[in-house]
Amino acid sequence: PLFDYFSLVQPEVDLEALSPEQISVEVKELSLYFDNNQVLERIGMSVPKHQVTSLIGPSGSGKSTLLSCFNRLNDLEPGCKVEGEVIIDGRNIYDRREDVARLRRQVGMVFQKPNPFPMSVYENLVYGLKIRGIKDRRQLDNAAEKALKDVALWDEVKDRLFDSALTLSGGQQQRLVIARAIALEPEILLLDEPTSALDPISTLTIEELINQLKSKFTVLIVTHNMQQAARVSDFTAFLHEGRLVEYSDTNRLFTRPRQEQTEEYITGRY
Ligand code: ADP
Ligand code: MG
Repeated sequence: PLFDYFSLVQPEVDLEALSPEQISVEVKELSLYFDNNQVLERIGMSVPKHQVTSLIGPSGSGKSTLLSCFNRLNDLEPGCKVEGEVIIDGRNIYDRREDVARLRRQVGMVFQKPNPFPMSVYENLVYGLKIRGIKDRRQLDNAAEKALKDVALWDEVKDRLFDSALTLSGGQQQRLVIARAIALEPEILLLDEPTSALDPISTLTIEELINQLKSKFTVLIVTHNMQQAARVSDFTAFLHEGRLVEYSDTNRLFTRPRQEQTEEYITGRY
């Protein structure tokens, strides 16, 4: 076999036969340029709802750029130009009428390096809710507790809620940042190499967590770690030089890739 991961996720839905209700995000002919350099080339993909989808590919292939198109994190930069559509809930988020603040609430993002705010664990969790105007202490406490339980961090930090978040370990900080994102109840969670700054044990904890998160969120994850993609994702997209070379269920992509370029990459012959 090309790949002999013992626990390849079996697809639960057929990517080719997704019904509109099963689609969370529809990317159509998406191209992106930085200062006239084309970084993404006519990307098209349907991201299934409540599934984990990985973006893999060599460094510089456009994974992070594509991920940030799902919440318009970079198109406001000068020199960045986007063509095509990203459709969420029937609206093209690149339409000029789009409310970007609302979009960011709908689509949460977590970065590679854990970046808790330099404040207490508790304040990290309720920060966004307070900005949203929620002042009721009980409501904030409940949201904080629920988010910590969702990332399996409650038991570890329940006695440290008012310690600085920066006193937590790297793995705990990353789970806290994920909890901070999900406390805002987004529909979609974007994770850009969420474990590459972490030790192996914390990495496994986060991977386990990702598997659970999909019951509540649509999860998109960028990883350069193919084993991780194979372990955590239902669907995998392989990018190369800004093009979407292959996109299918993870099992298929790793065991029977359709494209030679994919095969070369996953076997390390690339
Ligand atoms: P990956 O995440 O797959 O490593 P990126 O999406 O970060 O790749 O980058 C894809 C390409 O876009 C690279 O050539 C990179 O140099 C370029 N790029 C990314 N962000 C910017 C930016 N803000 N300005 C100019 N070029 C960028
Ligand atoms: Mg990247």
